[in-house]
Amino acid sequence: MINPPTKLKRKAQRVHSILLRTYGEPRWTRLDGVSELVATILSQNTNDNNRDLAYSRLRARFPTWEAVRDADPQAVIEAIRPAGLANQKGPRIQAALRHITNSHGQLSLDFLADLPLEEGRAWLTSIHGVGLKTASIVLLFCYGKPAFPVDTHVHRVTGRLGLRDAQLNADQTHYWMEALCQSGWHGPLHLNLIRLGREVCQSRTPQCAHCPLRRLCDHAKHHTP
Ligand code: SF4
Repeated sequence: MINPPTKLKRKAQRVHSILLRTYGEPRWTRLDGVSELVATILSQNTNDNNRDLAYSRLRARFPTWEAVRDADPQAVIEAIRPAGLANQKGPRIQAALRHITNSHGQLSLDFLADLPLEEGRAWLTSIHGVGLKTASIVLLFCYGKPAFPVDTHVHRVTGRLGLRDAQLNADQTHYWMEALCQSGWHGPLHLNLIRLGREVCQSRTPQCAHCPLRRLCDHAKHHTP
């Protein structure tokens, strides 16, 4: 059981409050679990625009997820080509759709709503090609579970801020951030940290002088004159 120190929980609360004041309460498009799973597989190693284009093409080409599942693999690969790595993602998506159908007799992930977080996560990550980040996105945004997805932005920003031990890798940071957050923060804080990472705390040149979190940030304390 992870139990971060109270001091760090308070810091996380301040980070969350400042980001809410700065960016507001983020909104997101709610998809059903299967659609979110497919969209998240498409988003691996690409940007949002390419993912959205590939997703739209897939939806336009096939009327249902059952049709995607049973399609000629080459037709799926062709539809999702804008997302990149289409030769991997196409078969991965079809295998995931078959896995869900074979396990539950229908193409739906709604059974996850009734499972505790850990069980749902174990079930999703048992699908080939579904890692912690993808599983956490589905569980958080489709089923309201207190998961905390960690992408490259969240991992970098939480490390610089000092919200986690510098040694934690991205997978370990999922569990750490879950423990650090209070109920209801997970979605907003995840999305606001991504926004900060894209707009201000970029990988190569963080703009600490313009960052709303600079007074709290360990990196800024050590690197800003
Ligand atoms: S102060 Fe600098 S390093 Fe810290 S979160 Fe902001 S931009 Fe990133």
